[in-house]
Amino acid sequence: MGDLPVVDQYQRPLRDLRVSVTDRCNFRCRYCMPRELFGPDHAFLDREELLTFEEITRVVRIAAGLGARKIRLTGGEPLVRRDLPTLVAMLTEVDGIEDIGLTTNGSLLRAQAPALYEAGLRRLTISLDSIDENVFTAMADTPIPLRQVLDGIAAAAEAGFDPIKVNAVVKRGVNDDGIVDLARFGREHGVIVRFIEYMDVGTTNGWRLDEVVPSRQVVELIHEAFPIEPVDPAYTGEVADRWRYLDGGGEVGVISSVTEPFCATCTRARLSAVGEVYTCLFGAQGYDLRSLLRGGASDEELADALAGLWRVRTDRYSELRTEETAQQQKVEMSYIGG
Ligand code: SAM
Ligand code: SF4
Ligand code: SF4
Repeated sequence: MGDLPVVDQYQRPLRDLRVSVTDRCNFRCRYCMPRELFGPDHAFLDREELLTFEEITRVVRIAAGLGARKIRLTGGEPLVRRDLPTLVAMLTEVDGIEDIGLTTNGSLLRAQAPALYEAGLRRLTISLDSIDENVFTAMADTPIPLRQVLDGIAAAAEAGFDPIKVNAVVKRGVNDDGIVDLARFGREHGVIVRFIEYMDVGTTNGWRLDEVVPSRQVVELIHEAFPIEPVDPAYTGEVADRWRYLDGGGEVGVISSVTEPFCATCTRARLSAVGEVYTCLFGAQGYDLRSLLRGGASDEELADALAGLWRVRTDRYSELRTEETAQQQKVEMSYIGG
């Protein structure tokens, strides 16, 4: 089995693996799964197509052998996959994995947060774009009320998750007038809010550059309301720029994927729910690892396949992005996970 850290064509190691556990979701966020395209006729994956927990754990073990240290479970909505705490518990046993995180829309946390914590999950990121009911509903396009997500955040805190991060995608003219309110929410509830620039993932969200609010503007807006100063990154390759409230009100962050791309330090691979590996969020085609997994490949063969993919990697889409590249065929985010 390949047990040396692999690096790609730009000397970037493989450090993180994002694992999508389902392509299904109980929300229809406009920027991710617009209802016109993900309606009742949309063909979601059959259960047998999804990697089993055993298969996922095996891939994680192989990736750890190549240098991966961090895992993030995502989707679709990961909490619609049955028994997710079982997977978390299995992943905590994998040698080399130091950190397991989960990104969720928060709506199912009241029921699941305690079991997830119990299983060993410690890092939790909840997506929430607005604390205004109307704006929330317009963006998430779900019958689930905002209060259910807020209650999910409360449930996570009660279960012991600390810190809790809240990710908000900012779309100009849609939720940018609620940035300060969200920042205030973070301060009042002791959660770290991170504002993400709206990205041209997939091909269905009709992305336009003028809908992106540059993080610089987000920082200025927050600073006017609650003065902040920069915090040093916790580690190289941290995607969020961190800021601290001068009055001790905690931290806030921005993720500037569009205006200040971080491809140079990108150490992330993604595993789709059906076991395809993507070496970039903006990839068009994944590598079908499931055929190897289900075709009787040895650990060594799997490690060679993964290492081979990583070694030839030259991805740096966000550094090359233009209005034109945004039109290219790319995989949907709900399919490979954020
Ligand atoms: N359903 C879970 C959730 O929403 O947290 C996990 C999957 S979701 C695809 C992961 C993250 O991607 C979410 O924080 C979501 O806001 C973000 N996301 C989806 N589409 C995006 C886009 N076009 N630009 C920026 N972030 C996006
Ligand atoms: Fe679902 Fe998350 Fe995509 Fe929203 S961002 S539609 S919650 S997968
Ligand atoms: Fe990594 Fe691709 Fe995003 Fe660049 S565009 S940071 S290579 S996932």
